[in-house]
Amino acid sequence: MNVLDSELVATSLTNAGFEQVASHRQADVILFNTCSVRQHAEDKIYSAIGRLKDVKKYHPNKIVGVIGCMAQKDQTLIFKRAPHVDLVVGSGQLGLLTTLINRATAGECELLEVGLDRKSNSLLSVQRSFAPYNPERGPDVKRGSHQSMVRIMYGCDKFCTYCIVPSVRGPEQSRSIDEIEAEVRQLANLALDDGVCLEVTLLGQTVNSYKCKLGNRTYRLSDLLYRLEEVNGLDRLKFVSNYPRHMTTDLLEAVRDLSKVSSYLHVPAQSGSNHMLKLMKRNYTVEEYRDMLAKVREIVPNAAVTSDFIVGFCGETEEDFHETVDLVREERFKNSFIFKYSARIGTQAAEKFEDSVPYDVKQSRNNELLAIQNAITEEDNKKFVGRIVEILVSGPSKMSVKREEDGPIVQLTGRTICDRIAVFEDDRKWIGRIIPVKIWSATALTLFGKRVE
Ligand code: SAH
Ligand code: SF4
Repeated sequence: MNVLDSELVATSLTNAGFEQVASHRQADVILFNTCSVRQHAEDKIYSAIGRLKDVKKYHPNKIVGVIGCMAQKDQTLIFKRAPHVDLVVGSGQLGLLTTLINRATAGECELLEVGLDRKSNSLLSVQRSFAPYNPERGPDVKRGSHQSMVRIMYGCDKFCTYCIVPSVRGPEQSRSIDEIEAEVRQLANLALDDGVCLEVTLLGQTVNSYKCKLGNRTYRLSDLLYRLEEVNGLDRLKFVSNYPRHMTTDLLEAVRDLSKVSSYLHVPAQSGSNHMLKLMKRNYTVEEYRDMLAKVREIVPNAAVTSDFIVGFCGETEEDFHETVDLVREERFKNSFIFKYSARIGTQAAEKFEDSVPYDVKQSRNNELLAIQNAITEEDNKKFVGRIVEILVSGPSKMSVKREEDGPIVQLTGRTICDRIAVFEDDRKWIGRIIPVKIWSATALTLFGKRVE
């Protein structure tokens, strides 16, 4: 979501006449787009902002701005901790950014624009203050026209007790199905003009609770997928993140029946312990989660399911943790993102429960669960050896960039339709195309292969 916001901000500033430069040293305006989902993300941002203090001392005309979730969460605290910051702009106010930059350039300081607090304002006024942000997309969006993200909804209403997202991203609001279709068509036309394939990832915090009322009809995510399947120039379609309780039959049937829709499903479980799930207020038991997975596998037998887990949540015992280990071992996720619980001020968990699991215990549970998941991922990846997979080539691999390979033949990277990463040496001309690659070896992270005719 933040990567998309950064792209959109870059596009809209470019449209307003700004130009992107390679380093902050050459920049007149420096913006930090921030995440506040865990403390570590905030610490990194505050130290990066701190490093600009001297820069601002010697170049007082440079504008420094903090935008996004941490701007919404910390508000004026940012000016206190970093007095050299000129702008603090929440994710609902990104549309005002150009005007605010111009005001800061004209000499105004400590400009603050954020959404309203959800606890002390009416739903309608809070919704309005987390305004939709969809600036015109141009051909120069950063990731290139063969892979794009399209937001289909804003905010979140689930209020999982550990999570800051509902307060920094505001109430759940779905975009109109017509508007989303028009945006995807526009991206598809750009891809057709460039002669490349297009993969679109639909984004929402609980993407499968998408709901758009038009006249007397309510459109769900499955209806949107059927519509987008028809878009000429669109090749692949994914959607993240799914909320386990909304994995409905109509959605799974759409995934099964539509050729462009990837059967990659990210459905975070967070924990395998009913005690933890209840404290997290996830609204399902582990038995219900497993039943949901059984339904996924019955309707979409080739589905690649991935999950998120939080380890060391308040009061998590060894037994709770081992229930999570059992879930990972038995359900064999394609991969899992594992996070150490980080208390977030303003969330129910931070207010009501004790962050009782010591850091080193969180770390060792994180390592243990990751090792188990990686072994599963590696075993499953090895099943691809000898097979031919269709790869959407995204660009030179990290290794190739590091080695500064500059000839026509480089190490390329891309993804299978089920989101597995593959690398192979070949001509740059394949970037943005979907091509068959025969896999000859595999690790937990990567499939290695060679293009076949
Ligand atoms: N809306 C998405 C993702 C939300 S944030 C979803 O519900 O799936 C991404 C992940 O960060 C979450 O799935 C959760 O695993 C993790 N996370 C959220 N808050 C956290 C916290 N306070 N500490 C540690 N991990 C957290
Ligand atoms: Fe956070 Fe839960 Fe909403 Fe995901 S569903 S964004 S974890 S509150």
